[in-house]
Amino acid sequence: MTQLKKLIISFFFIAFTNIIFSETLKISINRIEPSSWWIGMNNKELQLLIYGKNIGITEPSINIPGIKITNICRTKNSNYLFLYLYISDDTKAGNYEISFFLNKKNVAKANFQLFQRKQDSQIKKSFTSSDVIYLLMPDRFSNGNPLNDATSETFEKPNRSNPNGRHGGDIEGIIDHLDYLKELGITTIWSTPLLEDNMNEYSYHTYAITDYYKIDPRYGKNEDYKRLADELHKRNMKLIFDLVTNHCGYNHWWIKDLPDSTWIHQFDKFTRTNYQVSTLYDPYASDYDKNICSNGWFDNSMPDLNQNNSHLLKYLTQNIIWWIEYAGIDGIRIDTYPYNDKIAMNELLKSIIKEYPTINIVGECWVSTPQEISYWQKGAINKDGYSSELPAVMDFPLMYIFHSAFNEDDSWNSGLRRFYNHFTLDFIYPNPNNILIFFENHDTPRFNELVNGDIRKTKMAYSLLLTIRGIPQIYYGTEILMRGDKNKGDGDIRRDFPGGWPNDNRNAFSEEGRTKEENELFNYVKKILNWRINNEVIHTGKTVQYLPENNIYVFFRCNDNKTVMVITNNHNTEKRKVDLSRYCQMIKNFSIGYDIIT
Ligand code: CA
Repeated sequence: MTQLKKLIISFFFIAFTNIIFSETLKISINRIEPSSWWIGMNNKELQLLIYGKNIGITEPSINIPGIKITNICRTKNSNYLFLYLYISDDTKAGNYEISFFLNKKNVAKANFQLFQRKQDSQIKKSFTSSDVIYLLMPDRFSNGNPLNDATSETFEKPNRSNPNGRHGGDIEGIIDHLDYLKELGITTIWSTPLLEDNMNEYSYHTYAITDYYKIDPRYGKNEDYKRLADELHKRNMKLIFDLVTNHCGYNHWWIKDLPDSTWIHQFDKFTRTNYQVSTLYDPYASDYDKNICSNGWFDNSMPDLNQNNSHLLKYLTQNIIWWIEYAGIDGIRIDTYPYNDKIAMNELLKSIIKEYPTINIVGECWVSTPQEISYWQKGAINKDGYSSELPAVMDFPLMYIFHSAFNEDDSWNSGLRRFYNHFTLDFIYPNPNNILIFFENHDTPRFNELVNGDIRKTKMAYSLLLTIRGIPQIYYGTEILMRGDKNKGDGDIRRDFPGGWPNDNRNAFSEEGRTKEENELFNYVKKILNWRINNEVIHTGKTVQYLPENNIYVFFRCNDNKTVMVITNNHNTEKRKVDLSRYCQMIKNFSIGYDIIT
């Protein structure tokens, strides 16, 4: 009897303390990321980031056949729990619940969805040199849905009169003009990021991400992004995702309550990166400079993420895999690539490629010499032993050549000779054909501005870009002679596409809405692009170039079936005679040819 009394008393005592305990320590779940995943992935391990009040002190439990908890990681912040699962291939798809216990009492639940990986989720053909990429900024391209310009959940409201404000463009606007792009001859779209950027200002550029699993509501919903991919695929076109792993936005939810101090790089006071990427391969670089380059912040609104934190690296890796699997993306562009931790990024890339062996991924390595660009391409043998996993790089040195060459006469190192000299250095690249080539992008002066609207120069730039080695990327609006001055600020090089907004006074997406000169350029670009699509000789053919003479640069692209001769005449007179005897090596077997432009 006494024994029983004791037992009852102690039972009540424990129950009572439990109530007090969970009341003072409120337990809740705000987020589980990702909240869905797939069965049948090559990597069976999944990390779930669970965030909520005191969730870190609980014991998670999963009762799903086929799933095992392999690791439970807690950080110094009790509001986080990193749960690692093994998902075997015989797990059944469905909606599941994860339970969280404290002293054997179920104190919280989280829902989690599992899908069967689709048979056709493998990327059939990623972007290659057979493609032409159209880079657009969604806020500035077209406003397909004026109702989403402002939302109750986002801070910055639309203001079209502010070059640095939000103008209302969205995913619907892109979808509305896919036929325009198809007609032009575009095969692939690279949209700058579309994930939520809920910063108070400058959010239109959307590189300060505040939620990695959500399309910004001013662009649409997650389903709209998937619909964009589907609409592209229907037209035999591709979609490139702009991935930002180096930094997030200051308003990201985790910044207010970091899992631990190593999640982002922190200094005693705000420390900006020195933007000196050379420190990452300079044999003489100091540790001080290297640290500031990699770990300094791009801007005070963009905390620098620490990819060396293994939980964060896994989070970022899964996030991009989630978007590929969810939306059916065809390729990736990685923002500010060298500013990430270069060893950690190799791990991220290997994980993506493990799931999608055919994917192409291009990194923004904004440096000015081919030696430096090639350092970042997979296959490069670097003296410091670094071996990159990044398949594709960007030819920034070539962009600078485009910016000056057409405004100069030829000499030892000016005018068209710059192109010739540039390509002589291709021996340094493991794969010169897997390089993005462009004469401008969303961060640079607009080409039409640099040549003062001289349509002849823009035509020359396009015809060169679309016939040389590599993967051409063109920037929205240049095909209709859009201009923009970088000196006036980024807003000026990111103007609205005329006709993209319901009340615009003209619609340059249509022939009638374009001026005579705009149509002249549009039709010129359209002609080359549509010809290029089916001419493998340009995609993969061998290049033979001739030393420029008298402002004329000639190169050939050839394979077993075809030979293409490209002549660039950077001279004030349109018509000039070319002595063909110099090119005997390339043309001796031909008696006729046709001009693709005329
Ligand atoms: Ca809109």
